[in-house]
Amino acid sequence: MTDETGPTLAPALEMRGITKRYPGVIANDGISLQVRPGEIHALLGENGAGKTTLMNVLYGLATPDEGEILLDGQPVAISGPADAIARGINMVHQHFMLVPVLSVAENILLGDETMANRIFLDRREARRRIVELGRRFGFEIDPDAKVGSLSVGWQQRVEILKALYRKARILVLDEPTAVLTPQETEEIFGVLRRLAGEGHSIVFISHKLYEVLEIADRITVIRRGRVVGERLPSATDEDDLAELMVGREVQLTVDRGVSHPAGPVLQIRGLEARDDRGQAAVRGVDLEVRAGEIFGIAGVAGNGQDELVEAIVGLRRPSAGTVSLAGQDVTGRSPRKMNEAGVAYVPADRHRFGLILSFPLADNLVLTSYYRKPYARGIVRDPKAILRDATTTIERYDIRTPAATVRASTLSGGNQQKAVVAREFDRDLELLVLDQPTRGLDVGSIEFIHRQVIAKRDAGTAVLLVSAELDEVLEMSDRIGVMFGGRIVAVLDGRTADKNEVGLLMATGGAERVAALAATSA
Ligand code: ATP
Repeated sequence: MTDETGPTLAPALEMRGITKRYPGVIANDGISLQVRPGEIHALLGENGAGKTTLMNVLYGLATPDEGEILLDGQPVAISGPADAIARGINMVHQHFMLVPVLSVAENILLGDETMANRIFLDRREARRRIVELGRRFGFEIDPDAKVGSLSVGWQQRVEILKALYRKARILVLDEPTAVLTPQETEEIFGVLRRLAGEGHSIVFISHKLYEVLEIADRITVIRRGRVVGERLPSATDEDDLAELMVGREVQLTVDRGVSHPAGPVLQIRGLEARDDRGQAAVRGVDLEVRAGEIFGIAGVAGNGQDELVEAIVGLRRPSAGTVSLAGQDVTGRSPRKMNEAGVAYVPADRHRFGLILSFPLADNLVLTSYYRKPYARGIVRDPKAILRDATTTIERYDIRTPAATVRASTLSGGNQQKAVVAREFDRDLELLVLDQPTRGLDVGSIEFIHRQVIAKRDAGTAVLLVSAELDEVLEMSDRIGVMFGGRIVAVLDGRTADKNEVGLLMATGGAERVAALAATSA
């Protein structure tokens, strides 16, 4: 496929001059993109740059105002997702698009309209094909395993298999590694390389620049709806890409300065909590976070981190143990009471807990204070005050939106996250609880949020930071607790902790260490 060694093939996919307008914003402004057969093409852009919109146009979910799409050099009109799939274009969604109670095979067959009436007839043949496809791309999968019992890395593979099963030639992966461990990411990259090797074309969307540099053959960068550059990984680096994306120089590492921890603010003793299925998820956690300190929790997703923070902020009733705030027992208090006591919470799942998507952005920015002054007097609300403060917040936090009055659902994913952060940070706090605060954010926004967190720490707030990004935990934290199997298995000094050691503790809970110690003392 290379230009030097042979005739240039027509691009597998070409988008020409795509323009898509929404009220008050041009989401795509004449974007052109060419993806060759067998190419992994990364699409980079800051939050709200228009990446998802462009892919929605490709998938027939949004109709462009201008421009055309060509497949193998032929112009096509894509009428909707079913049409896109029939033409060999597939979106590989993040794991939560799968149905957990169904098996791998059932999930793969689900929604495949050509199979709808034949599911039972062809089940054996389908399972055989699934196993074979998996092997071809380097993994063994049990087609009868329940998806809910698989790790997120395996769920991601099921999504890819689903696309391959439908004979996809062009695969779009929108932030596929957001919820994966570094190890799982490497494994998925192996699968992607094999796919490209067999001639599939891949559009890879990610905010992680080092990943893009590692996996992409070519990189297209868009900013505010326009293509601002194309790069080969060999001719660029993270700083260059960040600057191209954001339009200014970005500091990619955290300057955390010196912390001055004071007395304990959050004290947790023997805390236990169950997950949504009633299984023990937090199994006896003792933890203390002091004023003016960032306590980071490192761990592979699904080791009880989410349940722990939910039990702290009042969203989940602990089954045992106590939570104290500034010396006062607050175990089992409601989220509103915790909020009033000076606890802010940025949830991992912003759609479930962070925002009401059908409400205007302005209302979402006062979601935890709309019933108080200055937004309300008794039961009478003051929309003008809400709008005035929302406008200021939008400016200060650089939330990209045409107006404060648009529904939160129309914001790009990253800008929704910025809205949650803006609301939660914008007051004096005792305790700040952050669960994956920068997931889905672009490098400029991450830099901004990290600075805000450090400023809160310096103002004396106790910060509990949970993140699947090990680098984020290492760079931000004064102390690091490693969570494994519902327990904190080690607490380390954030400034001296070794990445490999933390990674090993995350993966094994320290069992190997314990075994090694036992072996040396024997
Ligand atoms: P992120 O990295 O944050 O996911 P993105 O690059 O995918 O960002 P898009 O979701 O494509 O960005 O959004 C581009 C712009 O289009 C944003 O300003 C967004 O608010 C706007 N937009 C997207 N969908 C709609 C919609 N259905 N109605 C109105 N505006 C929309």
